[in-house]
Amino acid sequence: ADAVVLGAKVTGYSQSLDGVSAQITHADGRVEDVAGTLLIGADGIHSKVRAQMHPQQPPIHWGGAIMWRGTVRAKPLRTGSSFVGLGTHRHRIVFYPISAPDADGLAEINWIAEVTVDPSHGWQQDGWFRPVEIADFAHHFADFRYDWLDVPAMLQGADCAYENPMIDRDPLETWVSGRVALMGDAAHPMYPTGSNGASQAIVDGRVLGAMMLEHGVTQDALAAYDAKLCAPISAVQLRNRGAGPFGLLNLLDARCGGVFDDIDAVIPPEERAEFMAGYKAAAGFAMEALNAAPPTIAPGARLG
Ligand SMILES: Cc1cc2nc3c(=O)[nH]c(=O)nc-3n(C[C@H](O)[C@H](O)[C@H](O)COP(=O)(O)OP(=O)(O)OC[C@H]3O[C@@H](n4cnc5c(N)ncnc54)[C@H](O)[C@@H]3O)c2cc1C
Repeated sequence: ADAVVLGAKVTGYSQSLDGVSAQITHADGRVEDVAGTLLIGADGIHSKVRAQMHPQQPPIHWGGAIMWRGTVRAKPLRTGSSFVGLGTHRHRIVFYPISAPDADGLAEINWIAEVTVDPSHGWQQDGWFRPVEIADFAHHFADFRYDWLDVPAMLQGADCAYENPMIDRDPLETWVSGRVALMGDAAHPMYPTGSNGASQAIVDGRVLGAMMLEHGVTQDALAAYDAKLCAPISAVQLRNRGAGPFGLLNLLDARCGGVFDDIDAVIPPEERAEFMAGYKAAAGFAMEALNAAPPTIAPGARLG
């Protein structure tokens, strides 16, 4: 239980040949140096550890996308767990159920409404996350009415709505400096295009553990972790600034303005399959290879 200390913030670190020390400020104002063999900065997109490791890093990057997010009780569509994406990569709504339906057939639905604007004036709000009224943004989606779905009505029924700009940071050349490493969003904050930010943070932890089993709790373990993940995940960060799977909807929009009777006549099934296969290969969603691979850390493995 004493491994987790709440209400404490790392403000910086210092390291020597023998060890590393993290400067911690506690909630009551007490300042403490905590010494160790290695320091892993897992302190998110505003990471203090990263800021010290890379003092020249540019500020947070915002490409102009604004997301409004919330939940609503509604009937889940198609399979009952289908992910629905409507519009284009610059003007879209995405939603999917996050609960099983109740006896009344209604489930909790998570929705994300998004538009991309000119980012040249920078983000004008104070924070990165704030509650908003539905009326503040629903007009962008007034035309999203279909015989099978009324998006404005769905938004009106929402329990809550929050505004987030879509932000990330430029990739780093390295996540490691001697005895200090970054992981998760501290290492690679990325757009949620492939829904893979948190998943990658978990993979980082697994790979870091595997490297410690191989090299011990040493700087070599951190260097091996960096060598394995930093370059390929940096490429994913940049790729996530693109349209991802929404490229297919952009194509549909370009060919017919999104209005069609027969989807196969607009984008033939083979072309759709080829597009999605290309995205999955680029994003590393190699399901069969992953399922056939041995676990990153063998069950029961422990450091000696
Ligand atoms: C709108 C949105 C949608 C997303 N959708 C998805 C998705 O569908 N799928 C997916 O996989 N990912 C998604 N992500 C990304 C995902 O949330 C992050 O990648 C993930 O939370 C990163 O985990 P982390 O532990 O590295 O960082 P965080 O979750 O940010 O945790 C960092 C922790 O460090 C603490 N901390 C901060 N500063 C300090 C300090 N100085 N000292 C000590 N502690 C500190 C914070 O309090 C926090 O607890 C989404 C993100 C956003 C914003």
